[in-house]
Amino acid sequence: MTLSAQPAASLFIDGRPVEGEGAALPVLYPYTGEEIASLREASVAQVARACKVAARAQVEWAALAPVERGRVLTRAAAIIRERNEELSRLETLDTGKPIQETLVADWESGAAALEFFGGLAATVTGQMIPLGRDWAYTIREPLGVCAGIGAWNYPSQIACWKSAPALAMGNAMVFKPSEETPLGALKLAEILLEAGLPAGVFNVVQGRGAVGAALVNDLHVAKVSLTGSVATGQKVYAAAAEGMRHVTMELGGKSPLIVFEDANLDDAVGAAMLANFYSSGQICSNGTRVFVHEAIRDAFLEKLKARIATIRIGDPLDPETQYGPIVSPAQAAKIRTAIGAGESEGAALICGGAGEGAFIPPTVFAASDDMSIAREEIFGPVMTTLTFTDEADVIFRANATGYGLAAGIFTQDLTRAHRVIAKLEAGTCWINAYNLTPVEMPFGGVKLSGIGRENSAAAIEHYSQLKTVYVGMGGVDAPY
Ligand code: NAD
Repeated sequence: MTLSAQPAASLFIDGRPVEGEGAALPVLYPYTGEEIASLREASVAQVARACKVAARAQVEWAALAPVERGRVLTRAAAIIRERNEELSRLETLDTGKPIQETLVADWESGAAALEFFGGLAATVTGQMIPLGRDWAYTIREPLGVCAGIGAWNYPSQIACWKSAPALAMGNAMVFKPSEETPLGALKLAEILLEAGLPAGVFNVVQGRGAVGAALVNDLHVAKVSLTGSVATGQKVYAAAAEGMRHVTMELGGKSPLIVFEDANLDDAVGAAMLANFYSSGQICSNGTRVFVHEAIRDAFLEKLKARIATIRIGDPLDPETQYGPIVSPAQAAKIRTAIGAGESEGAALICGGAGEGAFIPPTVFAASDDMSIAREEIFGPVMTTLTFTDEADVIFRANATGYGLAAGIFTQDLTRAHRVIAKLEAGTCWINAYNLTPVEMPFGGVKLSGIGRENSAAAIEHYSQLKTVYVGMGGVDAPY
């Protein structure tokens, strides 16, 4: 069967598909390596045009009543839900993730963000500050043009998570998806237009890092929201500083998942699997350092191995498939290098390994904290298990990393759960759960893992700024 997912054109600017004028950007289906679409990058002039168009469109968009803006977003959410099947299939072709996952986790979560921020738009108000005779008030204003730059693991969800709060607050956006997964953002642009978004408010440019850099440096851009690696985040944050632009940085992690001796073992094993093997392990917040209490280590590993053996690996479009390929040969090679380093450093391979072609099986190591597989983000299906006996010691070890995206713990002891969570250096934490990120809850990291928060009312602050107005109610008492 020949698969095709060719869009009308590579870019979407000013309410229209526009062909890119830059380098070729082939889109490959990760499962077969077959080319499913042939795109072109945006030229520097096209990036500039998209930003200019966005700056113009933003003024009118911001002038609408917030409830009208909100209505457009909730309508877009409804369209996404109606077309979820077709959109999820495209997401699977773009990313290689099993259709079983994309049907429930990708566009569905994007629709939830549009719905949430659509509803929130009209509730954002300022403050009235009494000052005796005089008074002051605040207005929460949009920033202007926001640049969104995405990673490849949840391309459509990322596009929605960034655009929903931005647009709700009256900003315009120019979005650059990852060069690996450029297709979903184009669908979002079409859907937003159909839902009533004025032309030019949401634009899509395509390209590799250099196109992203051109976007970050455009003079119209007031804010940059990036989802990507720490290395890219450092470059983008530095470039944004030049123009004093606001930033949201959703970066990488090497998050701890701590399983105490009193944990419900089946739940802890299930969560550890979800925290390492969902989306073939390509999730930023994954709990890749699984600290298991010495007393339950053997039982934990035994159950883990038995359940991993039941994972159905294969064709992502088969509804029975639970585990798909890695997004690209380059990413698979990086993961294999990390697995090789684990083996050569003496970590014990519990199951899995390098695999073949596009597939890397769910892999588990028993390792020690100093090994590279326990320190560096792999962004693939590689779980590193470590053991502990003492609570204070495991907290210290969990925090002994530059990252701080997420953390999880499993225990039945209520006081311990909250005591330990309070001490973990992570932006997003779970107790007796892992990797659940409902839109109602702020999501983001501390330390090298990022700045700012996505989702929830907290995101509103990252897509707006305060204007303060002092109101003089009497004469001006000048001493001169
Ligand atoms: P990446 O850093 O290679 O690329 C991310 C995006 O940045 C891409 O669109 C890329 O084209 C662009 N880019 C690269 N160089 C740029 C530059 N100089 N200026 C502007 N843009 C530039 O990341 P990736 O490989 O696509 O994704 C994997 C990484 O993303 C992992 O580290 C993962 O943890 C992280 N991630 C974080 C989150 C989160 O929410 N915290 C979510 C998903 C992925």
